[in-house]
Amino acid sequence: MPCSVKFVLIMEEKTKMKKTGKVYLVGAGPGDPGLITVRGKRLIERAEVVVYDFLASKKLLKHAPKDAELIYVGKKGGVKHTFSQEDINTMLVDHARAGKTVVRLKGGDPFIFGRGGEEVEELHAAGAPFEVVPGVTSATAAATYAGIPITHRDYTATVAFLTGHEDPTKETSNIDWSKLSTGAGTLVVYMGIKNLPIIVENLVKNGRDPKTPVAVVRWASTPEQRSVVGTLETIADVVKDADIKPPALIIVGEVVNLRNTIDWYEKRPLFSKKIVVTRTREQASELVAGLEEFGANCLEYSTINIQPADSYEVLDEEIERLNEYHWILFTSLNGVKYFFERLYSKGMDARDLKGPDIAAVGKSTADLLLRYGVNADLIPSTFTGEGLAESLLDQGVEGRNILIPRGLHGREILPETLRGAGAQVTVAPVYENCPVEGDKENLRAEFDDGKVSMITFTSSSTVRNFLGMIDAETQEELQELLSRVKIAAIGPITAKTVTDNGLHVDVQPEEFTIPAMIQSIVDYYSGDSE
Ligand code: SAH
Repeated sequence: MPCSVKFVLIMEEKTKMKKTGKVYLVGAGPGDPGLITVRGKRLIERAEVVVYDFLASKKLLKHAPKDAELIYVGKKGGVKHTFSQEDINTMLVDHARAGKTVVRLKGGDPFIFGRGGEEVEELHAAGAPFEVVPGVTSATAAATYAGIPITHRDYTATVAFLTGHEDPTKETSNIDWSKLSTGAGTLVVYMGIKNLPIIVENLVKNGRDPKTPVAVVRWASTPEQRSVVGTLETIADVVKDADIKPPALIIVGEVVNLRNTIDWYEKRPLFSKKIVVTRTREQASELVAGLEEFGANCLEYSTINIQPADSYEVLDEEIERLNEYHWILFTSLNGVKYFFERLYSKGMDARDLKGPDIAAVGKSTADLLLRYGVNADLIPSTFTGEGLAESLLDQGVEGRNILIPRGLHGREILPETLRGAGAQVTVAPVYENCPVEGDKENLRAEFDDGKVSMITFTSSSTVRNFLGMIDAETQEELQELLSRVKIAAIGPITAKTVTDNGLHVDVQPEEFTIPAMIQSIVDYYSGDSE
């Protein structure tokens, strides 16, 4: 047989062969989605199926491909299990046999009290290929995020992890309390909240000093983290009074005292503040990331959905004669984005803008322009339409041709002021702000709950759309709902829309940028401007 024919036959045989599946047991880390390993994240990025637990951060699922199958097999303490361990094992084996790349995402480390061992044994027995990726276990994360070094040269050289989940009425325990109580300097107990009184009793009965400090940390490494401190004598009452529920860890040992000096996570200026971020889906990330960096618990609500303009009639005509313009003014990030998308779609690019001067309303808009290859010629010192108008008037606009690519229902102040000074102004709509319907009930529930600390507004439309979403029937109802909520507005125009609607503004940066807004919020809560 000639060589080439043989090759074709081999290739045909290969494509007929079934792709073999594989199951990756991946440690998701303790809660903070940033604490997954690089390998874990890469595996999620190419998973076809993700089977995930209650304790694995849901935020990690956004790394999965859009068409991946996401299966929640949550087991929440006390609630009837939706999937038994056998169901989960069978599911993993079936998907692997079907040739799928499966990520089994488990909270913390899969092999630390996670039943990862049992799942892997099943896969082995079924002949399904697997790998295991360790994760940051919640014990070390809880200690670190509560300001407790789990070992310390001056206090302890040993640490033990144990489960507090054992049935306390069991005749023979797997835990040898007589050896463990004084055998390790630091003890970290997983799943021990329900049995806490029995656990501390066992420790004291077996020789541990009742004055030993103890910390209990709930939802460690998440914005919901809460921790309380006591001693073996007092901690059961402290936890009961503070109503601490699972998931939580119990840390026993002298190292707990170090928290007094090195507690850092809960001391961040925005820790435990629930802040509503109302921006467009595309633009929320900078504000959210910045606030979270200071410890805020951000609730993202998209009140505006940006869409390309229904018609590009005006822009398409003007694009043909860009060289006749003296100025092109960009008044928003979306103005830049959609203008260039249209320009590119016509086979044009930044080189076609060499005629007119370019102005950007503010620094972020100018930064974005630069990403499209254009260095703005003018940025006003006040980042508003009025500021831009003023800077242009200073230069003289009489008889000048000015193009403004912007949102369909933008404010008229800029074009009107320029026209008033004798300029020929063409407004070209390139995008449209549409209110978002979804999420309405969730948003309202957060406010009814009274746990929101602050709302941030980054444009007048976010204010209007927020009010539409919150759906208060009367001004009194609105006042009541927001009575304890602070409001941050990015600039004077947005602030005016807030006050025009009978609300008050608590935070307003001097410079109208996202970084300045974040800093003002931090200053506000740090007491610098209260
Ligand atoms: N494999 C996991 C542990 C699973 S057992 C790991 O390595 O962390 C479940 C227990 O872990 C919970 O009952 C609780 O005690 C602890 N736990 C997990 N995540 C936690 C968190 N973010 N904060 C506090 N405790 C947590």
